[in-house]
Amino acid sequence: MTYFDFHHHHINTKNGIYNIPLFGNAVDFPFSAGLHPKDISSNNDEAFLWLEEITKNINCFAIGECGLDGLVEIDLEIQKKIFQKHIVIANSLKKPIIIHCVRKHYDLIPFRKIAKTPLIMHGFNKNTAVADALLKEDFLLSFGKAVLHNVSLQEIVKNIPKEKYFLETDDADFDIENLYEKIAEIRSESLKTIKNQINKNLEFIING
Ligand SMILES: [Zn+2]
Repeated sequence: MTYFDFHHHHINTKNGIYNIPLFGNAVDFPFSAGLHPKDISSNNDEAFLWLEEITKNINCFAIGECGLDGLVEIDLEIQKKIFQKHIVIANSLKKPIIIHCVRKHYDLIPFRKIAKTPLIMHGFNKNTAVADALLKEDFLLSFGKAVLHNVSLQEIVKNIPKEKYFLETDDADFDIENLYEKIAEIRSESLKTIKNQINKNLEFIING
């Protein structure tokens, strides 16, 4: 049994969404492409030419990771403009967006109004209040390695509606199966139920 890894940076993982590095080439399995906030520079024209081309590829499942990061040097208003450009691309291609966010979760919420496709907050590791605020606005959450040890995060995972989440390894080196097993235990559901639900959630964000 293989388990879908919603967001990852491992070129050898085929069952998941591989995040292509900036200016990287398309691959023949599902991928996402975007400008991580740390990739923003003073001139992003070339990056957007690359992005507009690569995102048309049939294996491009999602736009991103992109978003807002309170820890990078780039001015927040510039980050917002760049994020908005990703939303325009996602809207025109009808593809979901994988969001990277550090310390700016509430700043994301206004973007819900302009985005016409699903917004998935990857690597979610904030508290219940932030989770609830995002879920209320119809964001989905993707959980990673932190769930294995973080008890308050486990509480969020226990209560999240089944159609609202994904699981991922991101850049961490561990077996995604361990995360699926942990989620099955936390939610008192079978591994098969979790796996089927994640596949359904994927189907929903890709095809509506
Ligand atoms: Zn990542």
